[in-house]
Amino acid sequence: MRFEILTLFPEIFSSFLSESLLARALAKGLISVELINIRNFTSDKHRTVDDRPYGGGYGMVLKPEPIGLALESLLAKGGPKPFLIYLSPAGKLLNQPLTRTLAQHRRLILICGRYEGVDQRVLDHYGAFNLSIGDYIVNGGEVPAMVVIEAVSRLIPGFLGEMGSAENDSFSDGLLEHPVYTRPRIYKGLEVPDTLLSGNHRQIELYRQQKAVEKTISERPELLTPSKDQEKE
Ligand code: SAM
Repeated sequence: MRFEILTLFPEIFSSFLSESLLARALAKGLISVELINIRNFTSDKHRTVDDRPYGGGYGMVLKPEPIGLALESLLAKGGPKPFLIYLSPAGKLLNQPLTRTLAQHRRLILICGRYEGVDQRVLDHYGAFNLSIGDYIVNGGEVPAMVVIEAVSRLIPGFLGEMGSAENDSFSDGLLEHPVYTRPRIYKGLEVPDTLLSGNHRQIELYRQQKAVEKTISERPELLTPSKDQEKE
């Protein structure tokens, strides 16, 4: 998977990409991440990337031309057809099924907004898909882009190595994951459930399924009722 990130703050990604599973996936070539500084595509002496909003109001809006030029530079490189995403609180909410859909692409271009957002025309012109990580506002699209990179990368075969499988993660079967335990067997008087110590794999599997259902009912009951989209299918 090739990720190309348009941002005003590429440095934000450095330690994120240099640790743990992502660093390994980059080294193994399972993913690639290119950081494109939008400011490099300005042409005035002040390297202006933003301006006041038409119609008045607070804050600044990211100008369309530098983002358009940055996109053109990526498209000119050729390669797999990219799926273009604008990280936006007004976008479609990211969830595991949508993450799976994104993981089917070979190339994702992510535009990180800042300030009051991005001039709508550049998003319309290039047909960006608006994607939100949740119903709250963060300062910029960089943290949402990191969320997308991690969530999508976990689904790429080989990313998790032998240590795990995305199939067991919460949401992959519509349920939250069962509670998990490790040593010590007793912690502050609380014991690990006996079944998990029994060595009986069938019983352990049934116990985990039951706990996953109980946890989903108690924490996220709406996951068990079909959404309007699913009802239509
Ligand atoms: N004024 C905008 C609004 O109310 O929709 C919020 C702008 S926000 C401070 C700046 C940038 O952060 C946005 O352009 C977007 O790229 C990113 N952003 C903020 N919250 C987000 C979210 N929940 N999901 C995805 N991107 C988000």
